[in-house]
Amino acid sequence: MKHHINILVYATLITLTCLFLSDSPWFIWIIVALTIVFSIVLTLGVLFLKFNYFLPSLIRLKNKEVLLTFDDGPHPENTPKILDILQEENVKAIFFVIGKKAEQHPEIIARIISEGHLIGDHTYTHNNMMALFPTEKLIKELTQSQVTLTKLTGKKIPIFRAPIGYTNPNFARALKEMKLQSIGWSLRSYDTLNKEENKLRERLLSKTKASDIVLLHDNLDITTTVLKDYIQEAKTNGILFASTMDIHKLQHG
Ligand SMILES: [Zn+2]
Repeated sequence: MKHHINILVYATLITLTCLFLSDSPWFIWIIVALTIVFSIVLTLGVLFLKFNYFLPSLIRLKNKEVLLTFDDGPHPENTPKILDILQEENVKAIFFVIGKKAEQHPEIIARIISEGHLIGDHTYTHNNMMALFPTEKLIKELTQSQVTLTKLTGKKIPIFRAPIGYTNPNFARALKEMKLQSIGWSLRSYDTLNKEENKLRERLLSKTKASDIVLLHDNLDITTTVLKDYIQEAKTNGILFASTMDIHKLQHG
């Protein structure tokens, strides 16, 4: 992965600097500058899934359809409302559910599946400190969500989205071990931060383009309120939303 290349380049440049420039008055500053650049690249890799820095994530669809994805549910009121809208508009989506919430609302999980949407694994607890978990703890967490979701859906759930989108080498190892495909997004709605319905709808409408994977949250009132208008207006603008949801569409490579 790109992370290994970054380490290799950094180690090589440090070695060369030590071998050939150790007498230079700039020596210490060159070392500092190389370390700063290395750290910036590393930080961007952690924060932005789309750089595929630690692990490959699917960011866009291969065809022209736009895929809506909903994280952090199921939510007892909003998820059913969202499912109603998706049904009326004949749009299929992925719900990246949190294992322990899914356990509390098995009927919503059953409805998501029966209406032709996909379930994705969004961990069991969605602990905000998960980016600091060691690999073993991550594997334990993912085993728990996989067991829960398999019990609820009757099948293995091969797609995964990291909480807050942060990844690192531990996530890369854990996902490889658990044979999970990471799914990212190309369009972030910022529905978690946006408090004004108009602004959220305008942002979505002005940014949505063919092949986008859109990140939304089905636990939020604002997303539920804005969704129908967004889908209808985007359709008038010529946007084609995914109307069948096939796991094979989401295989990387
Ligand atoms: Zn989340």
